Amino acid sequence: MQALTFERETWRQQAACAQLGVPTAVFFSDDFGDIIQAKRICADCPVLESCLEGAINRREPWGVWGGQLFRNGHILTNKRRRGRPSKVPRPEDQLPVVPIPARLQQELLSA
Ligand code: SF4
Repeated sequence: MQALTFERETWRQQAACAQLGVPTAVFFSDDFGDIIQAKRICADCPVLESCLEGAINRREPWGVWGGQLFRNGHILTNKRRRGRPSKVPRPEDQLPVVPIPARLQQELLSA
């Protein structure tokens, strides 16, 4: 148990969101500007993979974790729709795309 606590503390110390002192609310906001800011911070985070893996395992119901937007325990993807692109882009199409690490893509596919 002690090792787990130490591991968590180490993990938090490396988190970009902690280093930058960004308000937690930015990662749990419905505001598109906040979501974009959160995803951009995550994109450069050295612990992105660990953060995302934890969020997937916990089925996080809400927020931006590891560069991905979670809603109801699932990652919202911003895949391009079929057909001709809309003249008026959907707001979610304008979110930065943060790639899911290959190892976690496999985990998501097999879940
Ligand atoms: S990936 Fe994003 S939410 Fe996770 S620790 Fe890094 S900055 Fe914070």
